[in-house]
Amino acid sequence: MEIRVERVDPSRRRKRPEDEGKLGFGIYFSDHVFLMDYKDGKGWHNARIEPYGPISLEPSALVLHYGQQVFEGLKAYRRPDGGIQLFRPRDNLRRLNRSARRLCMPEVDVEFTLKALKELISLDQEWVPRTPGASLYIRPTMIATEPALGVKVSPEYLFYIITGPVGAYYPQGFNPTKILVEDRYVRAVRGGIGEAKTCGNYAASLLAMEEAHKKGYTQVLWLDAVYQKYVEEVGTSNIFFLLEDELVTPPLGGSILPGITRDSVIQLARDWWIPVRERLISIDEVVDAIKLGRMKEIFATGTAAVISPVGEISYKGEVYTINQGKVGELSKKLYEELQGIQYGLRPDPHGWIEKVT
Ligand SMILES: *Cc1c(COP(=O)(O)O)cnc(C)c1O
Repeated sequence: MEIRVERVDPSRRRKRPEDEGKLGFGIYFSDHVFLMDYKDGKGWHNARIEPYGPISLEPSALVLHYGQQVFEGLKAYRRPDGGIQLFRPRDNLRRLNRSARRLCMPEVDVEFTLKALKELISLDQEWVPRTPGASLYIRPTMIATEPALGVKVSPEYLFYIITGPVGAYYPQGFNPTKILVEDRYVRAVRGGIGEAKTCGNYAASLLAMEEAHKKGYTQVLWLDAVYQKYVEEVGTSNIFFLLEDELVTPPLGGSILPGITRDSVIQLARDWWIPVRERLISIDEVVDAIKLGRMKEIFATGTAAVISPVGEISYKGEVYTINQGKVGELSKKLYEELQGIQYGLRPDPHGWIEKVT
C-alpha cells in the first residue's frame, strides 16, 4: 500500500516547546499524523500522512458508545550521534494486534505499520528531543467508526499514529514512589479485557486513582478481582519484587497487561544470573516479607518511567517502608541498562533496537 504524504504548510507548523527541560507528558504533539481506514471486504486502505489536526467522526460512531478501541505506547530516542531509534517496536505492534483480536477489531500488518511509523518519525524528526532522558512518545490508536447504535462489531475502523515530545520521567531525580494497595475497586478480572491495551481498563481505574491522589499516593497497587489477595499491577505498570535474591513478578494470567518493559527486565535479570519467577504473590506475603526484612526492593516497569522504584506501600491503614525508602541497587542497574540500550549508549545484545535514521 502506498502512503500519500501531505506536508504541513510551513506557516501552519505547530509551536515547538521552548524548553526541552519542561516537556511534561502528553502535552505537545508533532506536526504530522499517520492514518489509514478499514472497511469489511476492502481491508486497510487510504494510508496517508497529514498535518496533525482534529478528525471528524459522527456522534454515533461506535467507539464513542461501546469503547471498541485499542492503543499502544512506545518511544523514539535520540542517539548521541544524532540518529533516532525505536525500542522493540514490533512487539508493540504485535501486542496491538492481540488487543485488537480481543476487541473483535482487524489486525494491522506489522511490517507495513512499522514502515509508516518510521516515515512519520523521519518527517517529524526535529520533534525528537535532544535533551538526555527526553524522547518522542508514540501513540498508535485504532477506533470503531461506523455510525450506528446497538452493541455490535463495527465493520469500519480508523487507525492513526500521533507522536509528541515528552520529558524525562524523573526531572527531580530517580525517587521512589508511595503506593496505596487498593482493596475496594478492581481493575480487571481474568476472562475480561485486562490483558488488552484498551480504553475501558483505564476508565475503570480512574476513581481509585483519584482517591489515592487525594490521600497523597502516586499510584494504586491493584489486587486480583476475585479474592482481592494476589498482587496484579501498579497503576499502568507491571510490578516486580526482589524477595531475598529472587525476582518475583505476577504471571500473565489474563488480567495483567503483558508489558514489554516487564519482558525486557525478565530477560536482563536472567542475563545477569538473577533467578526470576513468574508466580502468584499475595499482598500478605508482600507485607510479611517487608516486616521480616526479606523484601529487598519493589519496582514498577513501563515505557513511560522504565523503572519506578516503590519506597512505601500502604495497606489497610498500615504503612510499610521498603529499603528505607531508597532506590535499590537492582532498580538502579536495570534503569541504567534499559535507558542505556534505548538511547544507544550501551550494546544491544538482544536486538531490541530498530533504527529510524
Ligand atoms: C502499557 C501498560 C503497561 C506497561 O507496558 P510496557 O509495554 O512496558 O509499556 C503495564 N500495565 C498496563 C495496564 C499498561 O497499560
